Amino acid sequence: MPDAPDRTEGDGPYDQLIIRGVTMIDGTGSPAVGPVDIVIEGNVITRIQNVGYPGVPINENRRPQLAENGYELDAGGMYILPGFFDMHAHTGGNAQGTVPEYVYKLWLAHGITSIREPGSFNSLNWTLRHKERSENNEITAPRIFSYVGFGQGHEGPIITPQQARNWVQTIHEQGADGIKFFGARPEIWEAALDEANSLGVGSMAHHAQPRVVYANVSHTSELGLRGMTHWYGLPEALFTDRVIQNYPLDYNYSDEQHRFEEAGKLWKQAAEPGSDKWNEVMNRLLELDFEINPTFTIYEASRDLMRERRAEWHERYTLPSLWQFFQPDRRAHGSYWFDWGTEQEIAWKENYRIWMQFVNDYKNRGGRVTVGSDAGYIFKLYGFAYIREMELLREAGFHPLEIFQSASLKAAEVLGVDHQLGTIEEGKLADLVIVGENPQVNLQVLYGTGAIRVNENNEAVRVGGVKYTIKDGIIFDAKQLLRDVEEMVQQVKDETGFEITQPGLDY
Ligand SMILES: [Zn+2]
Repeated sequence: MPDAPDRTEGDGPYDQLIIRGVTMIDGTGSPAVGPVDIVIEGNVITRIQNVGYPGVPINENRRPQLAENGYELDAGGMYILPGFFDMHAHTGGNAQGTVPEYVYKLWLAHGITSIREPGSFNSLNWTLRHKERSENNEITAPRIFSYVGFGQGHEGPIITPQQARNWVQTIHEQGADGIKFFGARPEIWEAALDEANSLGVGSMAHHAQPRVVYANVSHTSELGLRGMTHWYGLPEALFTDRVIQNYPLDYNYSDEQHRFEEAGKLWKQAAEPGSDKWNEVMNRLLELDFEINPTFTIYEASRDLMRERRAEWHERYTLPSLWQFFQPDRRAHGSYWFDWGTEQEIAWKENYRIWMQFVNDYKNRGGRVTVGSDAGYIFKLYGFAYIREMELLREAGFHPLEIFQSASLKAAEVLGVDHQLGTIEEGKLADLVIVGENPQVNLQVLYGTGAIRVNENNEAVRVGGVKYTIKDGIIFDAKQLLRDVEEMVQQVKDETGFEITQPGLDY
């Protein structure tokens, strides 16, 4: 994986930047308020000033004064939100054929100013180097929080509790923010989590099915795990009439169609919503202040493959190598389209219905839910997939304000940076998203491709798309970042003659 190039994009930070006349959704969960003027000095929000009332001219006397070397951004009629955190965000690599610049620009173009890298598969050193370069604003990229794959960099497998402790100490000294687990023997889990928690190292798990019988979410959370990503391990914790998923007798985990098709029947095997077992498991996770990072979006092709294959952004923004990675292939992870049809999709729709109910209940009872995409697999494109995750949280029952709170404040809390990030408040860092439309009314205005509307001349037009993403006081033109990505894609197409086609169809 090459390194990201030095930054040439973005303006600022400024001694003084004033964002004028904007309507603010501050990320705390408070309703929108505006118009306000927001003063930023360097990378810090220093003043938020109410300057009037909706529908009447702004009271000029109430406006903060522009300093001699200050810069004004007119955001009248626009909305501002705290920068988004993609809490499950891979930079991609050889399999996807992506370069970091491509991925970073797609993220920033969708308002994502921070990411959690679960696994940091391009090596911990690579990830930490980019984390530091992003912190210093040497590259055009979101802030990076590195959750390194458990055992990564260890010579041979970790087989003793002491090795687990030593490994956790090593990655902590190197600067990792946390660990991503896929599963382990209980005594290894216990030692690693105990060490991580005593050092303040974060933890999350994708409870991979081959290891979930050893330890499901109820076990690992008791051992000190701080959060889960995806959903595996949760229905297993809710089993009452079995201990192991009802695998067909010819099941093979290495067959991706088996893996994903049977997963689609998993929630049906769990305790019913609202049952004693359902409440018992949920209440204990709430007591432990356990993070749930559902990544609904990454499984969406399971319930509607055509929607994902035909998503309109693929034409302009999906790199040919990434498109090829998504195609049916028995050897590629998440490319399980060997024989996928109505029955599989209907089962998955039911699976979603129950899963969404759990996540929404969890949020309603005070649980911490974060927003993540896992893009770069299963027809999901960086940035776009994150906005889609917001739509799926809406489908699950979240109010848009609850979604934005999950996208910013809840994530900042999990990462231990809520004193600096996660809301628009005086004293916090200037990580911000500006969009020309009210995103509560239609989350689709946050997509780089915008939302469709018919104008007064009866013509279909696009509205929205993030206008500016501000990271650490630096203003990025989100539309320009998208044009850069489009150019990268077009260049490869020009060189190779590549065209997007659908699987198995001859054009
Ligand atoms: Zn992932």
